Amino acid sequence: RLITLEGGEGSGKSTQARHVRDWLQARGREVVLTREPGGTPLAEAVRELVLHRWDEGMTPATELLLMFAARAAHVHALIEPALARGADVVCDRYIDSSHAYQGARGVDGVHLAALEALAIPGTMPDLTLVLDLPPDLGLERARARGVGNRFEDEALAYMARVREIFLARARQAPQRCVVVDASVSAEQVAAAIDAVLGARL
Ligand code: C5P
Repeated sequence: RLITLEGGEGSGKSTQARHVRDWLQARGREVVLTREPGGTPLAEAVRELVLHRWDEGMTPATELLLMFAARAAHVHALIEPALARGADVVCDRYIDSSHAYQGARGVDGVHLAALEALAIPGTMPDLTLVLDLPPDLGLERARARGVGNRFEDEALAYMARVREIFLARARQAPQRCVVVDASVSAEQVAAAIDAVLGARL
């Protein structure tokens, strides 16, 4: 099974991804924990480009193509082989992040759909946990952790658009997506996720 965690900045995805891994391992599953953009040496190299060289005139199209270049490599080299041998894969961000982040940057849904079909034919998540919180709280948490962001002054408005797209996608795919309130403590979020995993897996 492929389980993905999605959400805006400061939503606690990485912490909860580890929690999901631990939950599955405690039930005897082999689990591969990974992240996007990244997850393989090639995809991590692309991550470095897309996250650290945005000030070299990176357009939304360049960002979009780099994100999908990383994803195609990641799906091919890590995710599909793991699923094929019967392991569970827990991925910190996946396709919904491209719809949300690149979509909120103005990329047309037609392009997103075409690249999705090219990069991940058939490899959709079995379960997606959307960690939802107000953007001001998320950005405050991210800043407190010392994580700079690439969005500058526009951050709040941009993150509000990102959030709306995540929530809209969750509404459109209720059999795949569960929205979890991420504004509460990490322990409370983990407890809510335990309930979802127990009910769905
Ligand atoms: O989840 P994490 O904080 O590691 O993500 C790294 C950065 O990549 C974040 O700033 C996130 O907003 C950005 N990102 C993006 N588009 C994606 C995936 C991640 O802009 N499709």
